[in-house]
Amino acid sequence: MKVDWLIVGAGLTGATFAERIANERGESVLILDQRDHIAGNAWDEYNSFGILEHKYGPHIFHTNSKQVWDYLSQFTEWRPYFHKVLGSIDGKLVPLPFNLNSIDQLFPSSMAERIISKLVNVYGYGSRVPILELLKASDEDLRFIADYAYKNVFEQYTLKQWGMRPEDLSPAVTSRVPILVSRDDRYFQDTFQAMPLLGFGVMVRRMLSHPKIRIMLKTRWQDIQDQIIFDRMVFTGPIDEFFQFKHGKLPYRSLKFQVDTFPFELSQSAAVINYPNEYDYTRITEMKWLTGQRHSQTTTFTEFPIPHVHGQTVPYYPIPTEDNKQLFKLYQEESDALQGKVIFAGRLGDYMYYNMDQAVARALMLFSKMNKNG
Ligand code: FAD
Ligand code: UDP
Repeated sequence: MKVDWLIVGAGLTGATFAERIANERGESVLILDQRDHIAGNAWDEYNSFGILEHKYGPHIFHTNSKQVWDYLSQFTEWRPYFHKVLGSIDGKLVPLPFNLNSIDQLFPSSMAERIISKLVNVYGYGSRVPILELLKASDEDLRFIADYAYKNVFEQYTLKQWGMRPEDLSPAVTSRVPILVSRDDRYFQDTFQAMPLLGFGVMVRRMLSHPKIRIMLKTRWQDIQDQIIFDRMVFTGPIDEFFQFKHGKLPYRSLKFQVDTFPFELSQSAAVINYPNEYDYTRITEMKWLTGQRHSQTTTFTEFPIPHVHGQTVPYYPIPTEDNKQLFKLYQEESDALQGKVIFAGRLGDYMYYNMDQAVARALMLFSKMNKNG
C-alpha cells in the first residue's frame, strides 16, 4: 500500500495530525492503532449494562487555549461540566484541590480562621500554591498546614501513584493539584471546561471522517512497517520502542482498573473520590457524573497504580524525573537525526505528561511548523 503519510496511533495526537493533513494539505493518510478502537486513552464506550464508561479511566476536558477549544468544537458539541473531586482525609470527604473550604471542614473554626487569614495575607486570595512551595513557609501556622496537606493529601497518594515521593518527581507533577487559596471547589480552573456531548470516541471519529483518511485497527506498526510505502510518518507510540530501546527503556507507570456496576442510581457523592491514605487504590470514579447519563444502575472505576512491564501493561504515564528526562534526550537526538521524515508527538512520542488539550495543542503546532516548511 502507498500513502503520503503513515500515522502510528489513533489517539488525540494522531487524529489531530490526520485531520490537519487531510483537510489542509489534501494528502492521503493511513492511521493505524494496535487497539480495536480509535481515540487512544480517551476512548469511551457503552458497557454491557448500557452505561457509557471511559475505558482507560476518567477523562475530563479542560483548557485555557481558545485555539484548542475552537479546533475541537468543529467536531463536537459540548455539555457544560465542572469537575469536582473529594478527598478522604481524616475520615471526612473534603474538596480537592485542598482549599479554604477543606480547611474549614477539617479544623476547629478559630484555628481554620487563623490559617486562612495567613494564607490569604501571604499568598493572596485566588493564588495557587504548589505544596512543595508551601512547605518552604517559615510561619508556624503556614508550616502546620503545609505539613498537614503534604502528609494527608500528597505523600501517600504520590507513593501509590508513582512509587515515589513528591520531592523525587518533577515539581510539575504535584503542582497540577496546588493548594488553592480560594473557595473554588472545582478540580480545574481553566477557562474552557466541558465534556463532548456524545463522548470522546464520537468526537475523534468525526475528526477522522475524511475520504483521504484510512483507519487500520488491531495493527501494530512493527508488524506491517515493511508493507506500507509512505513519504512521511507521525509516530505517537513510545519513542523508546521506536528505536528498539537502544538507550534503555524509558520508565512508565501503569494502572489496573477494577470496574464495578451497582444496581442503584448513584454510589458516591462526587465524580471522583481520592483516597490518599487508605487502601491500595488512589481514586474511584463514578462514570455517570462525567457523562451526565441517566441510568438506574451505575458503574465505577477504581484505579490501582502498578509498575509498567513492556509488552504486558499499558504505558499510561511517563514518569517525570530528571534521570528520565536525560534518557529521553538521547532518544530525542535519534529522532532529530531523522530530519523530519518521522515526527514524534504525543504523551508517548514526546514522553510528556500531557493533558488532552496539550496533546492537541502540540499536534497543531507541529503540523503548522511542518506545513510552513513544505
Ligand atoms: P494515546 O491516547 O496514548 O494514543 C496513542 C495510541 O498509539 C494508543 O491508542 C496506542 O494503542 C497506539 N500505539 C502505541 N504504540 C503503537 C504501535 N507500536 N502500533 C500501533 N499503535 C500503537 N487528559 C485530560 O485532559 N483530562 C483528563 O481528565 C485525563 N485523564 C487521564 C486519566 C488517565 C488514567 C490517563 C492515563 C490519562 C489521562 N489524560 C487526561 C491524558 C490523556 O489520556 C492524554 O493526554 C491523551 O490521550 C494523549 O493522546 P495521545 O494520542 O498522545 O496518546
Ligand atoms: N496528587 C496527590 N493527591 C491527590 C491528588 C493528586 O498527591 O489527592 C498528586 C499525585 O502525585 C498525582 C498528581 O498530584 O499523581 C497529579 O494529580 P492528577 O489528579 O492531575 O493526576 P492524573 O489525573 O493525571 O492521574
